[in-house]
Amino acid sequence: MAIVTPIEAPQGERRQLSLASPATREPIGEIEVQNAHDVALALEAAQKAQPEWAARSVDERARYLTRALRKLIERQDEFIDVLLRESGKPRAEVLMMEIYSACDVLTYYAKHAAEMLHGEKRQLHGFMRFMKKLRIEYRPLGVIGVISPWNGPFILSLSPTIQALLAGNAVLLKPSEVTPFSGKLVGDLFESVGLPDGLLTVLMGDGETGEALTKAGVDKISFTGSVETGRSVAVECAHQLIPCTLELGGKDPMIVCEDANLDNAAGGAVVGAFLNSGHVCCGTERVYVIDKVAHEFTQKVLERVALLRQGSRGEFDIGTIFWDRQLEIIEAHVADAIAKGAKLLAGGRRNPDLDGLFFEPTVLTDVNHDMLVMQEETFGPVLPIMRVSDLDEAVRLANRTHYGLGAIIWTRDNRNGVELARQIDSGSVCINDMAVTYGVLEAPFGGLKNSGLGQVHGWNALRGFTHPKPILIDRFGGRPSAGLYPYSFKNDARMQRLIRILYRSPIGRWLS
Ligand code: NAD
Repeated sequence: MAIVTPIEAPQGERRQLSLASPATREPIGEIEVQNAHDVALALEAAQKAQPEWAARSVDERARYLTRALRKLIERQDEFIDVLLRESGKPRAEVLMMEIYSACDVLTYYAKHAAEMLHGEKRQLHGFMRFMKKLRIEYRPLGVIGVISPWNGPFILSLSPTIQALLAGNAVLLKPSEVTPFSGKLVGDLFESVGLPDGLLTVLMGDGETGEALTKAGVDKISFTGSVETGRSVAVECAHQLIPCTLELGGKDPMIVCEDANLDNAAGGAVVGAFLNSGHVCCGTERVYVIDKVAHEFTQKVLERVALLRQGSRGEFDIGTIFWDRQLEIIEAHVADAIAKGAKLLAGGRRNPDLDGLFFEPTVLTDVNHDMLVMQEETFGPVLPIMRVSDLDEAVRLANRTHYGLGAIIWTRDNRNGVELARQIDSGSVCINDMAVTYGVLEAPFGGLKNSGLGQVHGWNALRGFTHPKPILIDRFGGRPSAGLYPYSFKNDARMQRLIRILYRSPIGRWLS
């Protein structure tokens, strides 16, 4: 949704939030903000349900995902309607970013989770391999608190939830108060496939509910949202000594090299900046283009921007800003840039022809790093383009930020692209594409610097919902270590001989 208005509640009662469409400003519903007591009850139910779930095989858990996939495909129109109503984005973006992505994560994890979570034997190094056997078991953590944002309200709620469930945990999911009904679809989906009671509860509410969840006594928090909230979640988790994964904001740079295919780069910049109204954590937030090709690149960008259709009905390319508060941030960044000398080449204002939260796709040049638009996450349809004299300057400026989520490079020379990618301080880099790493499920997606902690996809992420528990077995029933006491100088001398054999002799080298 988009326009969130608190409704006063009588003392002792839950607060309510009233939601209105970002496109039409028409009311779309109300939610009650669930409080610490509600969270405690949900946690109790989750703790009760989790051991039986953990005792099932991963394949058995995965079958719920396969059923959920079938249901999602059957019910997709209903889901699309909810997502369209709350976000005001084009149907194509709901299909691409939410429905297709959801089908992909459900299929991928249902198929591969058993392999990723299977207990494994590891051969030990050196002479220990003759003495001991090692098994690693991936043990569920218990109950996971998933807290999600509004910019991909279904997929960013679904993906961590299914990973946590597959790993044998129960989940308490707290979607954003800006898009609560889209987040709730995750609960509806799993209810419709008969997931055991208490295993997944969707908690509706805002920061009050989120904070209560972090304090409730869950075993891990998987948080996606802003740096500021992420930091407070991390502090709470540190206090309780529980792990957390933080997927936070970004200020992704795009570097356009002199040899880039400028048509493709311009197309990539436009989609990267304006997709989802610019509300993409790894969207293109800044462009550094080599001086020599800057004019041609900028013209190609402007040609494409001129063709974009903004609206909320029929066929259109760019929808609304999802949230009234984000609109204020976007306007502040653009105003700050213009006041400091940026040149406005397109957009730069609310769309005068449309009611609702519409901000025109905006292109700025003559920007510099004193401007908010080059420093802080704008998270809106704004594309600032800065000329640079060479690639060293591009990399230096790309790294001059406290964010480190993703980066994009356009070049015809892949080897040069990889070399540049290595120099950029970001969690991931895409060469010759917009930032699509989040959708590539084999890639461990996560941020450096203020952009977060941990990863959301790949083996690391799924196993992050478990405790990897080594089980060490002595091959000889413990005989060799038995009788270590009493210590003696004779045994010390033997030990020293053994150390010399193991680490200095040819036989030792062979063993290791
Ligand atoms: P936000 O931090 O305002 O809210 C995120 C969630 O946290 C919401 O559900 C909110 O209700 C909850 N919350 C608020 N206060 C809380 C508290 N004190 N304790 C616990 N939970 C609390 O972020 P947002 O505006 O919803 O999301 C936009 C941000 O998310 C952007 O910065 C974007 O870049 C980032 N994001 C990052 C990724 C990624 O993968 N790195 C993906 C999507 C979005």
